[in-house]
Amino acid sequence: MYIVFFGGIEERLILAVSGNVRRTFRLGVRVSSVPFPPKLGYNPYRDQYHAGTILRYMAGLDFPGLVKMLAVVSFDLYEEGLNFVFGEADLGGRNAVVSIFRLKHGDEKVFFERVFKEVNHELGHCFGLTHCEDPSCVMSFSSSVVEVDRKGKDFCETCRESLGRALRPFLEGPHQHPQKPE
Ligand SMILES: [Zn+2]
Ligand SMILES: [Zn+2]
Repeated sequence: MYIVFFGGIEERLILAVSGNVRRTFRLGVRVSSVPFPPKLGYNPYRDQYHAGTILRYMAGLDFPGLVKMLAVVSFDLYEEGLNFVFGEADLGGRNAVVSIFRLKHGDEKVFFERVFKEVNHELGHCFGLTHCEDPSCVMSFSSSVVEVDRKGKDFCETCRESLGRALRPFLEGPHQHPQKPE
């Protein structure tokens, strides 16, 4: 079971992101619109929000059956030493945050694709994946939207295998994943 946690995001995007997470990770998705405390992580000198502070706040939240928690936020995020971040996640941990602030595009299709990529990327980190050398893999690092647009929203074969192993304990039902005889 999965909970997606949003703040100030349009309904169409919420539905699209939930569908994308369900398809990509094959986990049940629950959407909650629990708001963040106002100005959580806000830095007035940068007019940005500190991603690490948001992750720490999320670590204190709990919901029954929660496996991973994703926050999609509308404001701009930063981390020390970086001008901005598209998102941040606890590596091999529970929580991830993604900002749509720098992903917006006049064409909704392009915009949503960008969000899917960053969501898949940050959730990939939650499932223990690190950055990938394959520039077409969603786990490759992007420091600009140009690079986000260049990569795909899917995992390369190596990353997909690691993800499959990480997901195995969470998949429901005893008969859904028969082991192939070697
Ligand atoms: Zn990353
Ligand atoms: Zn990869």
